[in-house]
Amino acid sequence: MAERILNFIGGQFAEPLSGQYLEKYEPATGQVIALVPASGAQDVEAAVAAAQRAFPQWAAMPAEERARLLLRIAERLEERLSELALAESRDTGKPLWLAQSVDIPRAVRNFRFFATGLLHVSTEAYQMGPEVLSYTLRQPLGVVGCIAPWNLPLYLLSWKVAPALAAGNCVVAKPSELTPTTATLLAEICHEVGMPPGVLNIVHGEGPVAGAALVAHPAVRAISFTGGTRTGMEIARVAAPMFKKLTLELGGKNPTIIFEDCAFERAVAEAVRAAFSNQGEICLCGSRILVQRSIYSRFRQEFVARVQALRVGDPLEPTTQQGAVISEAHLQKVLSYVELARHDGGVVLCGGHRVQLDGRCRDGYFVAPTVVEGLSPQCRVNQEEIFGPVATLIPFDTEDEAIAIANATPYGLAAGVWTENLSRAHRVAEALEAGVVWINCWMVRDLRTPFGGMKQSGVGREGGWEAFHFFMEPKSVTVALWRD
Ligand code: NDP
Repeated sequence: MAERILNFIGGQFAEPLSGQYLEKYEPATGQVIALVPASGAQDVEAAVAAAQRAFPQWAAMPAEERARLLLRIAERLEERLSELALAESRDTGKPLWLAQSVDIPRAVRNFRFFATGLLHVSTEAYQMGPEVLSYTLRQPLGVVGCIAPWNLPLYLLSWKVAPALAAGNCVVAKPSELTPTTATLLAEICHEVGMPPGVLNIVHGEGPVAGAALVAHPAVRAISFTGGTRTGMEIARVAAPMFKKLTLELGGKNPTIIFEDCAFERAVAEAVRAAFSNQGEICLCGSRILVQRSIYSRFRQEFVARVQALRVGDPLEPTTQQGAVISEAHLQKVLSYVELARHDGGVVLCGGHRVQLDGRCRDGYFVAPTVVEGLSPQCRVNQEEIFGPVATLIPFDTEDEAIAIANATPYGLAAGVWTENLSRAHRVAEALEAGVVWINCWMVRDLRTPFGGMKQSGVGREGGWEAFHFFMEPKSVTVALWRD
């Protein structure tokens, strides 16, 4: 029997008002494992109303008390890590060990980070001569909306919800309907730790229905969104004329640049990890691998050998390195890009096909990790986000050429640079059009640093004080201290 998931509104678990549910498939088996509320505008309305009622008390709560509740959430997430990781793996198709070692620990860190950060929020004061003093009040916005995608469900949802709550806002969150379970477990935890009703509300449903209603609701003061660029455009179209605050964390087509003077073994291993982690379904994945021509053939040989050795299998098996992609439709989209690569003259060096497993996973959505070479940097496969286990190899001769190819896409999210030359590393980092640059590493995240993209990868930044500032309204107060 498929489990029935419920909304969480005003501290209560609730059926969608329409009574309608969507089927949720397990990517590894192709079977329906849950029924997800097909919520509509009325459910969003109820959630926003509950958040509005909760706001005065939550905003006025002393920082230490708010921090204590958020830290309790972090503790309970950690205590229930195994259960959450299993749910995340079953919902997404990602290897269980990955959910245990990355997704859920990161959600715990997000809550802990913003809970303790809130105890250190300070503000500026400016003296203008002896008689005028100005200071900045930073106040919570009220009700805010957080919309998250399916690839890192709790990791990304908590990255938004934790700072929003820490800053004193009440939240209506909409997870992807493809991955609803861990958000529901988070709601359970909020209930357990005694979060006041209405402070965090979770409304499940389809993006163009429930998500769109949240974006369009006049009482929702800000939208923090992570997802595809096209969805981001639609959200901006609706929210901008309503003058809502917006952060949009969108897609990427990230370059990994391998210079001839790199630490070779480490660079190859990390380039594989950067391209294929989470089946390539991370916005930060380095899917275009630019390799200096002098080491190109050596790199290609080593890289392809390592990719061929990646074990595709049941996400619940500890030895599996590549799990299932999120859906049959997504699998077909990924494979259509491989066809396009062949059509445009690309050579598929490994992978390029669906993987048929036996037993429990025989109907799952598995793709062999794929490496393609011989494509022009301008072709669609090198320009559009595939968001799956497909990487391309592109040779270059000079540093300037590498930078030009790296920057020649509409995206600007992340980039990797592999070199032992310190001056070159800094020079290239400065020239790259990317919100995040990693030198000799990948996906190392200090939560205090600004995170986000430029160009079509989005606007605004998350992380550290940027997140607190996004979720607060600054107000300048100026006082004259006349001495007559
Ligand atoms: P989508 O843009 O399709 O969906 C993201 C979220 O938005 C989902 O919850 C979705 O709901 C919802 N949504 C869809 N349409 C609307 C709408 N009109 N109004 C409001 N909400 C809506 O992205 P995916 O879930 O397919 O995620 C993959 C994308 O996310 C990739 O492009 C990837 O690059 C990007 N991403 C970006 C990251 C970053 O930090 N820059 C990080 C991770 C992913 P539902 O799923 O229920 O339809």
